[in-house]
Amino acid sequence: MSITKNVARIKNDIIQAAIAAGRDPKEISLCAATKMNDSAAVREAILAGVDCCGENRVQELTLKQSQNAYEGAPVHFIGHLQTNKVKQVVGKVDLIQSVDSLRLLEAIHKEAAKQGICQDILLEVNVANEASKSGFLPEEVDSVLSKMGEFPAIRVLGFMAIPPICQNSTDNHKFFQKMYNLSVDIRAKKYDNVCVNILSMGMSGDYADAIACGSTMIRVGTAIFGARNYS
Ligand SMILES: *Cc1c(COP(=O)(O)O)cnc(C)c1O
Repeated sequence: MSITKNVARIKNDIIQAAIAAGRDPKEISLCAATKMNDSAAVREAILAGVDCCGENRVQELTLKQSQNAYEGAPVHFIGHLQTNKVKQVVGKVDLIQSVDSLRLLEAIHKEAAKQGICQDILLEVNVANEASKSGFLPEEVDSVLSKMGEFPAIRVLGFMAIPPICQNSTDNHKFFQKMYNLSVDIRAKKYDNVCVNILSMGMSGDYADAIACGSTMIRVGTAIFGARNYS
């Protein structure tokens, strides 16, 4: 299966899932999760029409940027970001989706202010309160966002979540729905430097469920590029 065909199929799935949910397919963008795939694969995905690319590791981001891999598409950071690496990411990506702690938020702000830019971010939410995952707990989100006036070099555009893999789509929907409800609540509150338009959730195995529950951005790796080779 080629990358081009896979992207076409997923874009069609997006349309079908949106229509089934009574949504406008244009509300949903496709982010190619490009980790462990090389620049040639990334270029093919962009040519096939993905809306943006999401990179997990700083080293891969830097390498592929030096090879102009992302030309023609925005690039996002979607992996766990260590505070000592923010310099290599702030100002170099269009969106940091994976801001998972106040400490990281402060480090990003400091670097963005130093560069004289405003960095767009999403808050990563640990929606199922899993010990193994990073992110803000749903009940912490309000207090973090109420502080955003103190971070003028950052703009929060929404939320990213990686819910647990569930055995059935009913359980899956529960977590996606919880994220959607959170985003609707926050949107109504109008915090400074916060404009909740993006709800990034859904991956290769569950993007149709995520779209049914209000996702506006799915992050898809395996279904575009095939299984990753970890050896
Ligand atoms: C790898 C990854 C994805 C995509 O996962 P697939 O199951 O391969 O589609 C999405 N989001 C994040 C944060 C990832 O690290």
